[in-house]
Amino acid sequence: MSAQIIDGKQAAAQLREELARKIAKEEEKPVLAVVLAGENEASKVYVRNKKKAAAEVGISCEVLELSASIGEHALQEVIEELNENPHINGIIVQLPLPEHLDSQRILNSIRPEKDVDGFHPYNAGLLAVGNPEAVVSATPRGILKLLESTGIDFTGKHAVIIGRSNIVGRPTAALLLNHDCTVTIAHSKTKNLPDLVRQGDIVVAACGRPKIVKKDWVKPGALVIDVGINRVEGKLCGDVDFDNVREVAAFVTPVPGGVGPMTVAMLLENTYEAFCRQKQKSGHSCHCGGHGCSHC
Ligand code: NAD
Repeated sequence: MSAQIIDGKQAAAQLREELARKIAKEEEKPVLAVVLAGENEASKVYVRNKKKAAAEVGISCEVLELSASIGEHALQEVIEELNENPHINGIIVQLPLPEHLDSQRILNSIRPEKDVDGFHPYNAGLLAVGNPEAVVSATPRGILKLLESTGIDFTGKHAVIIGRSNIVGRPTAALLLNHDCTVTIAHSKTKNLPDLVRQGDIVVAACGRPKIVKKDWVKPGALVIDVGINRVEGKLCGDVDFDNVREVAAFVTPVPGGVGPMTVAMLLENTYEAFCRQKQKSGHSCHCGGHGCSHC
C-alpha cells in the first residue's frame, strides 16, 4: 500500500484564490496588524511571508516593528491602540517575544474579536466548550481542512495527537473532539507512545521531534498529519518518517508542502472572517455570501 499524499500547497492555493475572489468584491479591504518585537531572524521571515500572502488575497498588512527592549506596559499600549482602531480587523503578535516579556499576558491584551491567531484564552475557551463562534487558530484549522479534503468521514475515529501545546496540540484535540472524533493527547511524559499511536485512525504529529513516528507505529490505513518542522543537517523534515510511513498509511502530509502552507491560508481566512463579523456588528454587510465565512 502506498499512501496518498495530501497536497497542502495546492489546497492552500485554492483557499487563497477563493478568498481573493470574495475580498475583491469588498469596497473596504480587511486590515491585519502584525506586531513584531525584536530582531529574531526567523520571525522576520515569517512576517514577510505573511505580508506577501496577505497582499496576494487583498488583505492589507501593517507590520509594527518594535524594539527588542520594549517594556510590557508599552507593548500593551500599542496593542490597545490597535484594539481601538476601527480600521484594524485582525491583530497578531509574532512569537517568540523577547524573553523579558510575558507572552500570554501580551496575547491576553488583544481584543478577542481581533485575535485572528485564536490564542486568547476567551477564544481557546469557546473552542473548548464547542462554541462555533470561537476564532480557531490557523494551524488546527488547516489540519482539519486537510483531513476533510480526504473525503473520509472521521466521526467516531480515534485521533491520536502527539503534542499538547496551546498553539497546536490542545486546539487540534478540541477541534477534532468537536468533530466527533475520540481523542487521545500524547506528550513528552506519555508512556508507550508507539502503542498508543498504533491505535490511531488519525495521527497528528506535533511534537517537534524529527521523524519520531515510525512505520511500525502507524495502523495500516491511518490518516497521518505531520505538523512538525525540523531542520536536520540543513534539510527540512517533519515529525513523521515520511518515506517509510507512506508504505502503511492511507493518507499522509509531506513536510514541506503539507500543514505549513495551510497555516498561512487559514490565518488569512481568520482575518477575513474577523472583518466580516466587525462589518456586521457595525450594521454593514460583507460579500462572502455565506460561503466560507461561517459568520454570514
Ligand atoms: P512545543 O514545543 O510548544 O510543544 C511540543 C509538544 O510536544 C509538547 O506538548 C511536548 O510535551 C510534546 N513532546 C515533545 N517531545 C515529545 C516526545 N518525545 N513524545 C511525545 N510528545 C513529545 O511545539 P509546538 O509549537 O506545538 O510545535 C510542534 C511542532 O510543530 C514543531 O516542530 C513546530 O515547528 C511545528 N509547527 C508547525 C506549524 C506549521 O504551520 N506547520 C505551526 C506550528 C508549529
